[in-house]
Amino acid sequence: MSSVQDKRIILLEDQIKKLQSQKDILIKELDTVEERFEKMNRVYRNHLPVIIDSVATSDTLFSKTCRELSMALKKGDSQGKIEYIFEQLKTAMLKENIGPVSGRKKKGLFSSFIKANTESFIDEYKQSYQDVVNNLRSNLDKKYARKLDNIMARLASAEDTNDITEIRESVFSLIFVYISDTNQDRGKVNTFVREVVGKILDIESKLANTHQQTDAMFKSNEGFESVLTAELKGLKQTSDLALNLDVLKSQVSERLTSIESVLDKKQVNDQTIRERAEKNRHAFKSGFAKLKQELDEATRYSEELEKKLNQDQLTGAYNRRAYDKRVEEEMARFLRYGSCFSLLLMDADKFKLINDNYGHAIGDKCLQEIIKRTLPLLRKNDMLARYGGEEFLVIMPETDGIGAKEAAEKIRQTIEKIKFIYKKDIVRVTVSIGVSQAQKGDKNHQQIFERADVAVYQAKEKGRNRVLLN
Ligand code: GH3
Ligand code: MG
Ligand code: MG
Repeated sequence: MSSVQDKRIILLEDQIKKLQSQKDILIKELDTVEERFEKMNRVYRNHLPVIIDSVATSDTLFSKTCRELSMALKKGDSQGKIEYIFEQLKTAMLKENIGPVSGRKKKGLFSSFIKANTESFIDEYKQSYQDVVNNLRSNLDKKYARKLDNIMARLASAEDTNDITEIRESVFSLIFVYISDTNQDRGKVNTFVREVVGKILDIESKLANTHQQTDAMFKSNEGFESVLTAELKGLKQTSDLALNLDVLKSQVSERLTSIESVLDKKQVNDQTIRERAEKNRHAFKSGFAKLKQELDEATRYSEELEKKLNQDQLTGAYNRRAYDKRVEEEMARFLRYGSCFSLLLMDADKFKLINDNYGHAIGDKCLQEIIKRTLPLLRKNDMLARYGGEEFLVIMPETDGIGAKEAAEKIRQTIEKIKFIYKKDIVRVTVSIGVSQAQKGDKNHQQIFERADVAVYQAKEKGRNRVLLN
């Protein structure tokens, strides 16, 4: 072989080696491209439809084409069809000037979604408060109607949680006015108020939960939205500049990769938020239940205490403390509104003799029996109290002297008929009752009591076991 030939062979061998290494590089590149294509395909087919569906909600040509693209991707349509839709998308983008321009910037892509969410939550809240107000309306006196109308009107125009906070304060202040103003039975008032306040607390706890959740979602979506907005802006610029579909596709691919990574992060983030919200909800619920239970126990305890404080130990009737409080209230109402009330002062006749003849224990039983027999003869709003020893008082609201005297006569006759058996003896007890009503010119309840006391004295003088009105 000539040296020229040798040289040619070496040259060819070199060229083959070079080509081989180039081929290796090309194969490697092809692998990367394939890998990349796989990844992009995943984005196209899986994530892109989700993004499109949540963004493209309007009726514009761009949105419609987006939805068409989403459908095609979901169905797994051919590359050709997708390329065709992309081409249409580009046209629509150019026509409609899609992408954030300065004027639109504040109105983010997700703002309508967030707003819709917050609105439905405020609506739910408004609805619950309307229920509370309606409940108040059917339970409270007509004099609160105007205030309730006002609250209702404010509810109708409430737009955010600040409005609701102000309304809540109005509802509470109205409840407080009702508590201090009402003539109704205290127990009933307490139950009703507890019910209403309980309902408000329920609404509030729901609000706290939803608000926390919405707030966190809002923050997370804000971040996501700004990335998405920037990427779409890039897309628009790309589509403006792209000379052909291939360039557009490769540019779009890059953008989508970046969207994909943000979307992945967002999904992880959303999951964390959901888990945290769920945990908070549980903590709040059990904490709230415990609080309610404690409130119930405290109320029961204070009710028992209040009862003991106001109760006569021997007879179970109200005691003098309770009487003093109630008669003050009745007097105040009489002085303010002129609502009439009467007092009955009832004194057991010759009671000393009962104790002397049959013993103190029998005397005690007689006192208990007097209360037991008298209570059923009274109205619900009347109050029977042991004033001391063998003396009792009855407050009769909305009752004049004549009516009170009739009631007193019934009591007298009932007690007169009681037969206590002691060994072989029949023990009888009678009472003398002085009646007096609140009159024009009375300045305090002691004046009414004094007239009743005089009437008792006169009844005793006249032979006892009788009723006198003074
Ligand atoms: P009068 O008809 O004038 O009212 O005669 P009286 O004996 O009822 O009146 P007086 O005020 O002289 O005596 C009241 C008696 O009531 C004296 C006391 O023995 C009796 N008494 C007061 N408190 C109790 C009590 O808690 N239990 C018993 N068993 N007796 C009582
Ligand atoms: Mg007495
Ligand atoms: Mg007596």
